[in-house]
Amino acid sequence: MLSSEITAEILSMGNELLIGRTINTNATWICRELVRLGVTPIRGIMFRDVKREAVEIIRESINRKPRFVFITGGLGPTFDDIQLECVADAANLPLELNQIALNWITIFYKERGYELNPAREKMALLPKGSNPLFNSVGAAPACWLDLNETSIICLPGVPAEMKAIMKEEVLPRIQEEMKARGLSFSVFGFYIEGVPESEISAVLTKLVKEYPQVNFKTHPKGSEGNPLLDFNIYGFTTDPTQVAQITKEIKLFLKKAFPAAKFGEIRAVHEENPEREET
Ligand code: ATP
Ligand code: MG
Repeated sequence: MLSSEITAEILSMGNELLIGRTINTNATWICRELVRLGVTPIRGIMFRDVKREAVEIIRESINRKPRFVFITGGLGPTFDDIQLECVADAANLPLELNQIALNWITIFYKERGYELNPAREKMALLPKGSNPLFNSVGAAPACWLDLNETSIICLPGVPAEMKAIMKEEVLPRIQEEMKARGLSFSVFGFYIEGVPESEISAVLTKLVKEYPQVNFKTHPKGSEGNPLLDFNIYGFTTDPTQVAQITKEIKLFLKKAFPAAKFGEIRAVHEENPEREET
């Protein structure tokens, strides 16, 4: 890890994830949005709605001191929605009724013809010191908790709610911080036809040593007799031209190393759709 990196851990809570019923799209979406802003996600973990297990995992994350910990799932009114009590335990804080959150919940249900009840009120119990984050799609408020080095962002599991809160309340704040730090992310790629991955590996080892500022990833796209590699180079840097420049140098280097291969044009990869690999 480079010392200048702004790191994040993504914690995905929910039994349904661990029995294979729900695909963890929340984590992928959060990673993608963070990376866009120059934040480096360093770890993603799925765990069950079991208090002891959840507290341990959240505590371990806090102890590693990433800049951000994102947690999704379990903010709702039902018995298995225990995210906030787990966060409070992990951070050694009590839960406290938050008036702003309670007002939002009261209004949300009033507009739909319902009164407050204990299950609904429970959603306004936030770890002491948290700032509530408005949920424009559903009932459960999210929250932002600043600890010493780490901010914990507690989000609902429902993807539409999680995304709305991130876009409206969370990402703009992170964007400000990242702008002040001047960090950005970029990824470039080009295709190489006619070189199997196993052939390129020795060269790659050399490049990894020579260019520690960037990361490499080869995506094999071709078939047995017709190898095609999508060669990607990415990095989090304070100089936005640096990754592009390094990509040019590496392409030239590879062209010399594999004169018989065909090389595609360099392209900015990050705006393409994410890969979905199902095997
Ligand atoms: P609710 O208020 O609905 O109870 P919640 O914050 O408690 O919301 P969950 O009960 O954990 O969230 O999940 C609600 C829905 O969101 C479920 O349909 C679940 O499958 C989906 N979901 C939960 N976690 C994820 C995830 N990591 N990725 C995608 N979908 C998810
Ligand atoms: Mg729930």
